Formats: sequence, structure tokens, C-alpha cells
Amino acid sequence: MAKVAVVTGSGNGLGKGIAHRLGKDGFNVVLNDINQEAVNATLEEFKNEGLKAIAVKGDVSKREDQFNLVKQAVKEFGQLDVFVNNAGIDVVSPFMEIDADQLNKAFSVNVHGVVFGTQAAANQFIEQGTKGKVINACSIAGHESFEMLGTYSATKHAVKSFTHVAAKELASNNIRVNAYCPGVAGTAMWDRIDEEMVKYYDDLQPGDKYKEFVDGISLGRSQEPEDVANLVSFLASDDADYITGQTIVTDGGIVFR
Ligand code: ADP
Repeated sequence: MAKVAVVTGSGNGLGKGIAHRLGKDGFNVVLNDINQEAVNATLEEFKNEGLKAIAVKGDVSKREDQFNLVKQAVKEFGQLDVFVNNAGIDVVSPFMEIDADQLNKAFSVNVHGVVFGTQAAANQFIEQGTKGKVINACSIAGHESFEMLGTYSATKHAVKSFTHVAAKELASNNIRVNAYCPGVAGTAMWDRIDEEMVKYYDDLQPGDKYKEFVDGISLGRSQEPEDVANLVSFLASDDADYITGQTIVTDGGIVFR
């Protein structure tokens, strides 16, 4: 029987790339996004490629939506093997201007979302009595702290810590919990980050901040969704069965100043 993976936030960017890769690896995939149009478009691509998937709209910050994703996975494909907590949002703001709304929104999607997704997946793995894998979206911002990305960075530091704890607490249930930590990607998120950041500097033009970030990458290019998907594909595979509690950086060697 084909293995089954849920990928949250797979309507765009990295999540979409990860979902495609897992589909090509042979998984039946449950696609999810808060944006119905985006997740439907990903589903269409799956159909055109002859890959098996369903699309389930849902907000990862809502616990019941996460449990529904697992329910739909089991209803359609009979089981769950891998749950990728990919959905996330960025916040660009100088620390002194961050307000309660921004903090609540970022933490509810990036942190509550990962916790609820892990709970939903782990419940199912325990019920099935099978091994299972949870793979979380952390970030290079979960290891280092970037100006203007304080809130985002704080959420990703929380994801890193939660990944370590969940790995320990779920190990005896044969569940592995790891995270991928991307650097600068050529996705819509990074277009938005650049756009927001340059507003705070009189001497910068659109694209300048993005270029500055890319200039700091040893390999000389930002990453594509495929670069991150390569790591997630490995973490989702049996070859990664002895790996848990890890937050693995895939950033092309960012040089910090
Ligand atoms: P990245 O660079 O991390 O891939 P994107 O913004 O390109 O960032 O993609 C993130 C995806 O996550 C988007 O499709 C977005 O709609 C989705 N997303 C954001 N918030 C939620 C949420 N609360 N629930 C589900 N999906 C979400």
C-alpha cells in the first residue's frame, strides 16, 4: 500500500515543491492550504502529472482543522505515514513596532500550527500502531536572529525547541520528529520580505535587500523549492529512521556578518 503524507501550506512555494517531490517518491498526498484557489491549483498539477492527491482547505492554527486533515487522509487513503508542518507566515517589522496582533498571528500559525499538526499526526500514528514521521518547517531564522525579522525568528526558535521536545516525548511511540531549516528562497515569501524591508531604508530600492541576502550565500544562489524538497524527501524516507530531534539547515552556506 502506498504511503500517505500530509503537507500543510502546499498551495505555494516550498510546500508545493515538497508535496510534488513526495508525490513523485510514491506517496499519496493530502494537500492543504488556507488559500483554496492555491491548493486547488496544486491538485490540478498533481492530476496532470498522474500523481495521487486530495486537497483539503484548512487553517493550521485551528486544532480542529489539523485533526480534520488527518481524518481526510485516513478516509481517502486508509492511513497516515508522514505529516509535514510546512505552512507559515512571515512578519517584517522593527522590534519596537511589533504589536499584539502581529505577535498573535505569527505565533498562532507558525507555532500553534506546528504543535496542533504534530498532535493530530501523533494521535493517528499511535492509533495505527505504526511508525510515523513529523517534519516541521523551521528556518535559518530559528538558528540565527535577523534584524526586522524578530517575530518570525522568535517563532522559528520556538519550532526548533518544540521539535527537540516532541522527538523525545514521542520516541517511545516509534515517531520521529525533525525539522528542515531553509535559508533564502526564491519564493513569494521572500519577495514580500524584500518589499517590506526596503520601506524602512531611504537608500534601498526594491530587490536590494533580497540581493544582499543572496550575496551572503556561499553557493551564490538562493534556493529553489526542490532544494528543500530533497531534504524533506530524505527525512520522510526509511533511510532517516535513525534520525530524530534534528533541525537541519539547508541554506547554501549563509555567511553571517
Ligand atoms: P514559503 O517561502 O515558506 O514557501 P509562501 O508564502 O510561498 O512561503 O507559502 C506558504 C503557504 O502557506 C501559502 O500558500 C499560504 O497560503 C499557506 N498558509 C499561510 N497561513 C496558513 C494557515 N494558517 N493555514 C494553512 N496554510 C497557510
